[in-house]
Amino acid sequence: MSRRRMVYEGKAKILYEGPEPGTLIQYFKDDATAFNAEKKAVLDGKGVLNNRISEFLMTRLAAVGIPNHFIKRLNMREQLIKKVEIIPLEVIVRNVAAGTMSKRLGIPEGETLPRAIVEFCYKKDELGDPLVSEEHIAAFGWASQQEMDDIISLALRINDFMSGLFAAVGIRLIDFKLEFGRHFEGDLVRTILADEISPDSCRLWDYETNEKLDKDRFRRDLGGVTEAYAEVARRLGIIKESAQGGDVIDFSNGVK
Ligand code: C5P
Repeated sequence: MSRRRMVYEGKAKILYEGPEPGTLIQYFKDDATAFNAEKKAVLDGKGVLNNRISEFLMTRLAAVGIPNHFIKRLNMREQLIKKVEIIPLEVIVRNVAAGTMSKRLGIPEGETLPRAIVEFCYKKDELGDPLVSEEHIAAFGWASQQEMDDIISLALRINDFMSGLFAAVGIRLIDFKLEFGRHFEGDLVRTILADEISPDSCRLWDYETNEKLDKDRFRRDLGGVTEAYAEVARRLGIIKESAQGGDVIDFSNGVK
């Protein structure tokens, strides 16, 4: 096996140098962490599911004109992506109160918000990714005004598209986290969607029962974490039930 240079290791993913300049390989681990890595576990098969779910969502977002880093899936755990300079912000979009917003503002979990709300956290593990305002972002130069305009407009378009996509399969998109990067295209720099979109980074509730189908199952010790991720993949048509009753992952490429 050829040796690849590791560029970055995160909590749930590893980035390796790609085969061509300007590309990287994104490897999805089975590791799960929560509460700034205070809680850790290895969840068998999570990486495989997130690779496939993120591929599915990025491919569909690209098809509706949302520029993103995804190029193609390489295998069960890896995808080829465009190399970007990550903007040090976690961009959170919320439709329904949950998690830290409920805690911070005392809004009961499950209460629909009057409109979609976009929040920003400064991406800094040592500080626990603190919530920041656009004033902080501008003052400290973490992103330019143009980049902020692009990020907000892309985040809201992504929210509209994904809310509909999940609603169609009986899932409520409660909230999610996005990361964006600077993609250098000749003399041009474009803000594109990066990282991943998966049940690790979204809150997804069953429309009928409000059952959680996301990482809150791990955070709150509800059990059945990978089963819930597999249920999301099944509803999206990524994995199919086999005649024997087990799951079969469909590894065919592209948009159906
Ligand atoms: O924890 P909080 O309620 O702020 O999370 C909002 C959304 O952002 C959730 O869907 C959560 O999974 C996601 N998130 C994330 N990575 C973080 C923080 C939040 O994916 N570091």
